[in-house]
Amino acid sequence: MNAKWFIVDSHQHAYLFWHSDVYPPEYSKLSNRKILEMEVERFRRWFEKYPVSYGIVCGYKPRIDRVWDSRHGGNEAVIELVKRLNGKLVGYYSPNVFEEEDLVREKVEEAIRDLGFRGIKLHPWVSAFPLNHPMVYPVFDVAAKYKIPVLSHSSRSEFCTPMLFADIAMRYPEVPVIMGHMGKQHLHYDVLPAMRLAENIYLETSGSKLQILLEKAVEEFGAERVLFGTDGPHELLPAYVARIEDLNVSEEAKELILGKNAAKLFKLPTG
Ligand SMILES: [Zn+2]
Repeated sequence: MNAKWFIVDSHQHAYLFWHSDVYPPEYSKLSNRKILEMEVERFRRWFEKYPVSYGIVCGYKPRIDRVWDSRHGGNEAVIELVKRLNGKLVGYYSPNVFEEEDLVREKVEEAIRDLGFRGIKLHPWVSAFPLNHPMVYPVFDVAAKYKIPVLSHSSRSEFCTPMLFADIAMRYPEVPVIMGHMGKQHLHYDVLPAMRLAENIYLETSGSKLQILLEKAVEEFGAERVLFGTDGPHELLPAYVARIEDLNVSEEAKELILGKNAAKLFKLPTG
């Protein structure tokens, strides 16, 4: 793959930790320590193979476990992965919105201020809460204070429709709210109307196949509100980049989408 572009993958997952048949089944027999080592290797190899400058990554465990078994419920492993990747990775913190409000606020603040997380990842469908519910406000209060982006899964569930993004984004205009998968295929009619309501809504491109929707978003709102993501890392990276190259938008717009917008939002060095 040619290294023409500056690329930031704004939506990555590490298998830390979740045992299921869908995710590498061999992991289910291993200790968490061993899985972490394998993930470090997997990410290292991926960044060696592909010309991607940075990835923004989250784990699984904190949003699968409703009762956390450590202070940060497994986000600790993400911190270690980020450290081990020597500057290639930035971490998303996954909060537990089912904990007591003040505790949520305290932990998210600790994550941003002391632990080096640079964004928040929410998965309302998997964790089972509506994206705009008051139980999520403590998370957005802290995100607003530090002006850090919140990425959430969208579509597939009543808990995270594009219109719920509009509602929470209008309540927190200082927070960049990233709509992961841009409504996928099912709810794509909601995407542009939601973006019209809140100019702090950004789209993340993985999981959506609708070129025309991306082109219309760029035409109406500018390329500044679109971020490239893979929901990986995986070997489809070249196809995902080709999807952006194929858009009927300017070269400058493609540069912004593939990396420059994310670099600005997450304050990543571009030199
Ligand atoms: Zn995700």
